[in-house]
Amino acid sequence: MGVSDDLLQAILEDLYEQGPCGYVSTRLDGTILRVNETLLRWIGAVRDDMIAVRRFQDILTVPGKLFYENQYFPLLRLQGSVQEVTFDLVRRGREPLPVLVNSLQRTDADGRPVLIAHAMFDATDRRAYEQELIRSRRSAEQLAAVVRMSSDAIVSMSAEGIVTTWNAAAERLFGYPAHGIVGRDLRTILAPAKEHALWQHIWAELRSARAVQLEMVGSCINGRTVEVSAGFTPHPDLLGNLGAVSVIMRDIAERRAVERLQQEFLEVTTHELRTPLTGIRANAQLMQRRGAYNERAVAAIISQADTLKRLTDDLLLASQIQADRLTLVPEQTDLVTAARAAVQSLGVDESVIRVEAPAEPLMVEVDQHRLGQVVTNLLTNAIKYSPEGGEITVRVAPHMEEARVSVVDHGVEISRDALPHLFDRFYRVSGGTGRVPGLGLGLYISWRIVEAHGGRIDVESTPGYGSTFTVALPMQRGSAG
Ligand code: ADP
Repeated sequence: MGVSDDLLQAILEDLYEQGPCGYVSTRLDGTILRVNETLLRWIGAVRDDMIAVRRFQDILTVPGKLFYENQYFPLLRLQGSVQEVTFDLVRRGREPLPVLVNSLQRTDADGRPVLIAHAMFDATDRRAYEQELIRSRRSAEQLAAVVRMSSDAIVSMSAEGIVTTWNAAAERLFGYPAHGIVGRDLRTILAPAKEHALWQHIWAELRSARAVQLEMVGSCINGRTVEVSAGFTPHPDLLGNLGAVSVIMRDIAERRAVERLQQEFLEVTTHELRTPLTGIRANAQLMQRRGAYNERAVAAIISQADTLKRLTDDLLLASQIQADRLTLVPEQTDLVTAARAAVQSLGVDESVIRVEAPAEPLMVEVDQHRLGQVVTNLLTNAIKYSPEGGEITVRVAPHMEEARVSVVDHGVEISRDALPHLFDRFYRVSGGTGRVPGLGLGLYISWRIVEAHGGRIDVESTPGYGSTFTVALPMQRGSAG
């Protein structure tokens, strides 16, 4: 029996010393009375340096020590025990070890507290797990913020197609608030745009863990429809079955409008470029057939080549402006001289285009070439959109802090509806101006050039009278007539 008791004692002793927990018993002030092998091994200490020498709080990191003395110990005194609190143990030459501590206050025969017994478990895994949880929670929060702020409609639905989340952009796109659509079948408001892409097909793909991208038609709350491009992404559950589906939708009306605009642009440009080319070809053929030089044919070829050059120059300049690559070389310029030069460059005499200008120079700091282009554009338009022989006037004058140049014509009236769009890229008034050639770039280019000089262009159009385009540029100080 005695042997057996000894054996049992040895087993218990061994369990106490070597078991998977750290044990330490202390006096009320923390002085260590007993400590097991496991804990010594964890912290890399020897028993003799601990017993009666160090206190429990001394083997904790500083924040742990403060917490122990100010919170943990008073609580322990009050309750008699505290469970499952994490502390970090200071280890020699290594990172602190996170442990989960359970503490018990022991009393003597009279019920007076005398000892404290701490048992602790290695909490490394748990700590890593907690951190992982915090990390994934944070990234989930970030993701949720992205979804909230996204300009794309982002929706999630169950494997049965029932909407589970509906973001703000989806509210804007369809008009339905989240509470009006969550819990409903997405199919009630969304249909594939083309017959061949039926919902069955979409679900079959999603169940095979394949994403689907296609164009669809949505029904808005106000009864209108909206064309969207929709991307469906399947999310498998733990067993690999379809668990949920996220759908990202984007309004493609704008893209469609851009596509239409591009198509239109292509047609107009091709047409505009082809007209002078046809002329060049016809005149060259004429000379070829006759086998002789023809003054008029050559003049026509040159003029048509000039038209082609103007068109391509405008296209190039417009694309530079669009890409913010308009460069200016400003220099001191007399606006009066510049306006007269623009008139002369058109090869028409001053009886067709009258110039009204002060006798003295009106100085502005501008890129001469670019400003010349602006005045020429306005004059060309005045000629293009006026009946043959219509009177055109260029008026140069200072006005307050500005130097102004106006082009006044008595041509076709510009409708009220068209006025706000006149300076848009590729805008041309439909109808009225009939078959007058043009790309709708002249005013766009002119406006951007004037704007880059810190000035502006205004337009007035009066029925039965004509139009006046006025360029206003900031004037050089002291140059006002
Ligand atoms: P384009 O002349 O090549 O069409 P613009 O940008 O110069 O391009 O002009 C845009 C539109 O504005 C023209 O298509 C025309 O309808 C209108 N417009 C411009 N200038 C005048 C004008 N002086 N009188 C009447 N309409 C004009």
